Amino acid sequence: MPSQAKLEYDKLPYPTVIVVGGGFAGLEVVQGLANKPFKVLLLDKQNHHCFQPLLYQVATASLGADSIAHPFRRTIGPMPNVAFRMAEVHGVDPERKVVFSTIGELHYDILVLALGSTTNFFGNTAMEHHAMQMKSISQALDIRSDFLQEFEAAIALNEESAVRRCLNFVIVGAGPTGVELAGALAEIKRSVLRQEYREMESELMRIVLIDSNERVLKNFSEKASANAQRYLAELGVEVRLEVRVMGGDDERIHLSDGSQLETNTVIWAAGVKGVTIPGLGPALNERASRYAVDRTNAVVGIPDVHIIGDCALMTEDPEWLRGHPQVATVAIQQGRHLVSNLIRRASGKPSLPFTYVHKGSMAVIGRRKAVVDIGQRSFGGTFAWLLWMFVHVIQLVSFRNRIMVLVNWAWKYLSWKNTIRLIIRPYVRKTSIAPAEVA
Ligand SMILES: Cc1cc2nc3c(=O)[nH]c(=O)nc-3n(C[C@H](O)[C@H](O)[C@H](O)COP(=O)(O)OP(=O)(O)OC[C@H]3O[C@@H](n4cnc5c(N)ncnc54)[C@H](O)[C@@H]3O)c2cc1C
Repeated sequence: MPSQAKLEYDKLPYPTVIVVGGGFAGLEVVQGLANKPFKVLLLDKQNHHCFQPLLYQVATASLGADSIAHPFRRTIGPMPNVAFRMAEVHGVDPERKVVFSTIGELHYDILVLALGSTTNFFGNTAMEHHAMQMKSISQALDIRSDFLQEFEAAIALNEESAVRRCLNFVIVGAGPTGVELAGALAEIKRSVLRQEYREMESELMRIVLIDSNERVLKNFSEKASANAQRYLAELGVEVRLEVRVMGGDDERIHLSDGSQLETNTVIWAAGVKGVTIPGLGPALNERASRYAVDRTNAVVGIPDVHIIGDCALMTEDPEWLRGHPQVATVAIQQGRHLVSNLIRRASGKPSLPFTYVHKGSMAVIGRRKAVVDIGQRSFGGTFAWLLWMFVHVIQLVSFRNRIMVLVNWAWKYLSWKNTIRLIIRPYVRKTSIAPAEVA
């Protein structure tokens, strides 16, 4: 028997907007269309939004998963014209205006795809199979369990080579994600390991950051890169540049310079590619693995389909002719812009073109150091770190909408006295599982 709220939602006399993906881009659309003359249906394969920029803190046990995730139902609770279904979409038929999902076929008048991105292994199948990834909460929790399990394993071993293999942590990709993760692991070595794993020789722990480019943070200014590399060196992170990971298994990786590294843990942070689903073939740019869109995020030649965020490729914004970076600020701005265009169109006005406003780039390296590029200015050190904290705390608080989050977050982040270094769901390597289970 349907509830009164469901009956009222079903009867809404407005066009149905299906939003697939409640990440930064999709959620911005949902929030913007709340209480507007649209019947909005949010579909996501997860039941929560994930604040990906702080995933590395969950992975390194600085924050609990609940600090950076928020259930969609809590967000849409006060929005009578918005419904949520937890469902994976696996196709679109633009002729019939339907999406195919795990809960069946759903009709739309307007479709907004905000599917985000996934890890790009660039065809390195060995790494695809053996390396860990950090794109979702469950993957971050896997990393957390893994490094804690490696510490526990190392403490019980006597043979030095086996201990070293447990304590060698390799991160591939020295972009912001890799750099931030390496810095956080190095902080663990400096503080937690010495205090809580007293019987272990903490100096045996190595954090190796590998990248094929000639500098870390290659999309930042040269000054920011140099500062980041200096901070990483101060923290004891070994940075190996201009070298590629060619392959490996559960115990070692092989590098393009002919060397190999014994390790149980490789975390792949070397690239992303847009998530795509069947049905919009002509719009798919296969090389970029993103959907080509015009300046209004519409798919040319396919009416009423809009694509925003990481999976969209817009090459007409004058400053970004090769497409926008796959970052949250682009996703948020595109979502916001699409809302204003949908409202304009509903009142008979033409859509306006999107222009990305780049506000700067920042990355944090350890607990007191960060690098920031804003316009032509680049700075690092404690002030950059405070700015990074301020920006992320503000974003988190507006996203969770609770001042207590700020207090909890600051306490957990600033002290090592949190108690979340827990192995609740042990990480099981894919290769330890029978092939049938992996498939
Ligand atoms: C570790 C990490 C750190 C980052 N740090 C920063 C940073 O510091 N600053 C910054 O600006 N950006 C950062 N980014 C990038 C930023 O998080 C992304 O650019 C942003 O999340 C893109 O937003 P989106 O809405 O396009 O996709 P997402 O936020 O990824 O959301 C996509 C949503 O779609 C859902 N979905 C996907 N496929 C389907 C399907 N078939 N059916 C149903 N649902 C589906 C997913 O469950 C997800 O909820 C970081 C990313 C990562 C992984």
